[in-house]
This record gives sequence, structure tokens and C-alpha cells, in this order.
Amino acid sequence: ILNGDTVVQWIERAAEVIGENEKTLTELDAAIGDSDHGANMARGFSAVRGKLAEHSRDDVGAILKTVGMTLLSTVGGASGPLYGTLFLEAAKVTAGKPEIDRATILQSLAAGLAGIQKRGKAEPLDKTLVDALGPAIRAFEGAEGVSLAEALSQAAEAARQGAEATIPLVARKGRASYLGERSAGHQDPGATSMWLLLQSLAEAAA
Ligand code: ADP
Ligand code: MG
Ligand code: MG
Repeated sequence: ILNGDTVVQWIERAAEVIGENEKTLTELDAAIGDSDHGANMARGFSAVRGKLAEHSRDDVGAILKTVGMTLLSTVGGASGPLYGTLFLEAAKVTAGKPEIDRATILQSLAAGLAGIQKRGKAEPLDKTLVDALGPAIRAFEGAEGVSLAEALSQAAEAARQGAEATIPLVARKGRASYLGERSAGHQDPGATSMWLLLQSLAEAAA
């Protein structure tokens, strides 16, 4: 079970970790994009952290909706609307719930992924953040007989591996796709930030 306090702790941890990794995300985006993914994500999560400081904690859906709306209006680029969609779709699943169980967490992540794919049209192996979130959801769903914290930690590890596995891929969506074959040999920035987000969730739940 995750309650509103844990969800806020997750986002605060994510803001911290993304801040610490801003330079790394910028460097990854410099190689195959326009060098702004670190700044985009840091700006968005710092705005979110501000919004959540005084936020009520009794409705997980309301928290996630605030996160989604804030990311949508502050991150910009291709990733802003996609991260915004992830949280807004998860907010619909969790609306009015003071806490969420494992099945609801899975449903929220799956709804988020579906929203991202509907909006961005990325398929697996297109070298996008889908390549971190997809494997994470499958690992979470498959983690039977372990605690929620352990299942989330396995999901984060799958996201890390998914992000790493984007290195040899040729990008088929977003700015990196303009490079064609030259996009191969670099890790996707969005898949990397998605891993950091999921790693933060695992830490908050531990
Ligand atoms: P921009 O490319 O507009 O500068 P960012 O640098 O913030 O935006 O984000 C780039 C990341 O967004 C990419 O690394 C990729 O993971 C993700 N991305 C881009 N387009 C798509 C898409 N259509 N579907 C899923 N993810 C995408
Ligand atoms: Mg960029
Ligand atoms: Mg940009």
C-alpha cells in the first residue's frame, strides 16, 4: 500500500535525484538531441516540489493530477507532455483514493504507458522513455511472492536495464530520430530520466 505521504515523498525524491543527475541528462541529450533534457526535467520537478509542499495528502489522485498538470506546463519539449500524460492518466485511476494497493499501482503505470504511447506513438525499441517504462511494468507485474517495495525495486532495475538497452538502438521517434543511424551508440535521455523516476518510487516505498 502507498498513501499520499509516500507518493509525495516519491516526487520529492525524484526532484532530488533529477537535480543530482541534471548534468548527465543534459549530456545524453547533447549527444542525440538539443541538450535540454536535464534542464527541462529539473525545472519541471522543482516546480512540482514547490506545488506539493502545502498540498493535501488525503487523495492520491489529486496529488498525481497536480504533478501531471505542473509537468505539462513547465517541462516543455517532447518529454513534458509525455510525463504530464503519465501522471494525469495515473491520476484518473487513483482519483479519490487515500491509498493505493499493488493492483492499483500496476493499473496506474499501465494507464500512464498507454497514454504516453497514444500521444507519442512510440513502440518498444524506438529508443524512447517507453523502453524504460515498459520493461518496468512487466517486471512489476511479474514480481510475485515479494513485498511491494521489492517489486518496485525489481521494476526500477528493469527500467535501468531498459534504458541501457537503448544504447545500440536507432531512434525512430523524437528529435534523436533526425540523426538516423547516427543516433545509435548513445543512451536515450528520456529512458534514463524514466529510470530515475522509477528508482525514486522504489526508494520512497522501501
Ligand atoms: P526535446 O526532444 O523536445 O528537446 P526532451 O529533450 O526534454 O525534449 O526529451 C527528449 C526525450 O523525450 C527523448 O529522449 C525520448 O525519450 C522522449 N521522446 C521524444 N519523443 C517521444 C515519443 N514520440 N514518444 C515517447 N518518448 C519520446
Ligand atoms: Mg531535448
Ligand atoms: Mg528541446
